[in-house]
Amino acid sequence: MNIIIFGPPGAGKGTQSNYIVKKYNLFQLSTGEFLRKEIKENTEIGNKISSIINSGSLVSDSIVSDLIEKIISNKKYHNRIIFDGYPRSLAQAKNLDNLLKKNNQKIDIVLKLSVSLETVKKRITERRALEKRPDDNEQIAIRRYETYEKSTEPVIEYYKKMNLLKVIDGERSIDQINKEISDIIALI
Ligand code: AMP
Repeated sequence: MNIIIFGPPGAGKGTQSNYIVKKYNLFQLSTGEFLRKEIKENTEIGNKISSIINSGSLVSDSIVSDLIEKIISNKKYHNRIIFDGYPRSLAQAKNLDNLLKKNNQKIDIVLKLSVSLETVKKRITERRALEKRPDDNEQIAIRRYETYEKSTEPVIEYYKKMNLLKVIDGERSIDQINKEISDIIALI
C-alpha cells in the first residue's frame, strides 16, 4: 500500500504520518525532512537549496525527483511508502505516476488534511518553541501556506478525478483523525 498525505505546514501531517507508519509498517518519505537533512549535513545539494527552503519557496523538481526515485526503486520500500510533501505540483504528480509505474507500483489512497490558516499560525507558533526550525515564523508560515494552497490545488483535483482523494477535517483531535484514517485504510 502506497499513500500520499497532503496538508499545509502545521496541519498535523507529521503526526498522522508517524501514526500510519507504525500501524501499517510503512516507510515515511518526507521530502522536507530529507532536504533539511542535506542542509544539516552540508552536502552539495544542501548548500544549493538552503536559501530556497529558508525563504519558503519550492526546490527544483529534478532535485526532489532524484531523491524520491532512490526510495521508490529500493526493494526494501516496495509498496510501503507514505509520501509526505510530494507531489506539490501537477508536474510532480505525473512524475510520481511514471516513477511508480516503472517500479510496478501505484498510489492506493490520497489523504488531505484540511485546516484553516488561523489554526496553522497557532500551531506553527507552538512548534517553533519546541523545534527551532528556521522556516517556522509567522510571516514565512503564511507564505508557505499560500504557496502550498496555490501549488497543490491542481494536484488535489487530479487525485479527486482519479477517485483516490479522501478529505479529512484536520481541526479535530489527533485521536479522532487517527480513527478516521484507520477507517479509510480498512476499506482499501
Ligand atoms: P515541508 O517540511 O514539507 O514543509 O517542506 C519544507 C520545504 O522543503 C518546502 O518549503 C520546500 O522548500 C521544500 N520541499 C519539500 N518538498 C518539496 C517538493 N515536493 N518540491 C519542492 N520543494 C519541496
